[in-house]
Amino acid sequence: MELSSRITGLTGGGSDGWDLFIRARKMIAAGQKITELTIGEHDIRTHPDILEAMRASAAAGKTGYSLVPGSQSLRETIAARVQARTGIATTADNVLVTPGGQSALFATHSAVCDPGDTALYCAPNYATYPGTIRGVGAIAKVIQTRPENAFQPQFSEIDALAPGAKSLLVNSPNNPTGVVYSAETMDAIAEACLKHDLWLISDEVYDTQVWEGTHISPRTLPDMAERTLVIGSMSKSHAMTGSRIGWIVGPQAAISRLISLATHTTYGVAGFIQDAAEYALKRGTELEQEISAPFLRRREIAKRVLNGQNVLQAVPSTGAMYLMLDIRATGMTGEAFGNALLDTHAIAVMPGESFGLAAAGHIRVAMTVEDSAFEAAMIQLVDFAKGLAA
Ligand code: PMP
Repeated sequence: MELSSRITGLTGGGSDGWDLFIRARKMIAAGQKITELTIGEHDIRTHPDILEAMRASAAAGKTGYSLVPGSQSLRETIAARVQARTGIATTADNVLVTPGGQSALFATHSAVCDPGDTALYCAPNYATYPGTIRGVGAIAKVIQTRPENAFQPQFSEIDALAPGAKSLLVNSPNNPTGVVYSAETMDAIAEACLKHDLWLISDEVYDTQVWEGTHISPRTLPDMAERTLVIGSMSKSHAMTGSRIGWIVGPQAAISRLISLATHTTYGVAGFIQDAAEYALKRGTELEQEISAPFLRRREIAKRVLNGQNVLQAVPSTGAMYLMLDIRATGMTGEAFGNALLDTHAIAVMPGESFGLAAAGHIRVAMTVEDSAFEAAMIQLVDFAKGLAA
């Protein structure tokens, strides 16, 4: 029996960029000790207080079907958080609670693209973006940002591909580069959306991981709130990756259609997970800072280790749990470098090529192991690169 082209074409054929990650996992399963600097998952687990809130809610009976849009109190809590962080009036009616940011990416593209429509996204990109777009039957078109612009998309680059497109997906703070888009970049994005009548899907799941400067939500820019759908998640901010909870914030009319979509797809998020998320959000920024602090510390460690050498160039990033390193001075591709590093030093990183051609010749280092192991791995990585360049 044949399956739909939508599902068989989801990964677009060829390598999906996870070969090295899968190889590292197989080596671990075979008993080898590998330092994994691959995926965006904290080395700590969900905070015990959040787990206690989850347990208490489940014990009190929140194990049945929940309200599809999310509980009124959680939607209000998310709206208050968004309003406090951005200054833009936001109510519960602007919020849909979703099972994670990933499902929000799928839902938002379903909401704004018909089959055959063009949806733009910026590379280097979180690996699922093109597949998610193809999954809703739209055509994924990539805007290749450049290392020489610190991977910040330029107006001309968006403008060139935007005619006829329906939507633009952006991600700041960015996975994989760690780059936080500047005010000029956000203005350029808004200008292109207004000029070409695009919906903007703004993936802000790393909004608590900003190490210098500020994160600007493009929903705050003039005339943008009515055409912007913001994606948020508890995964990165509260180390709740497995709980599968996030949200979409957008215009009320779009959210009410998205609620209908959720009724026909996810049917909501478990009540005890929602209550745990509400508890966590109400703990405020202090808890968020506690959870993101290790990445800030490791970023300082990496800066120290990279200092005084010029083989590896760090992309000028100011956010997220990743470091993107330009390894082109070694003469290798990101993929070859990553594979050789795994074989010789038992350190696994992600090749830049996993995140699109724009990141070729780079590697992404996730700062997701404990400080001393991270420092040791960074020292070995630098020595390895120096040896190659010599
Ligand atoms: N967007 C980006 C940029 C991500 O890196 C991730 C997860 N790594 C997601 C969305 C999805 O996160 P989740 O579904 O866990 O909220």
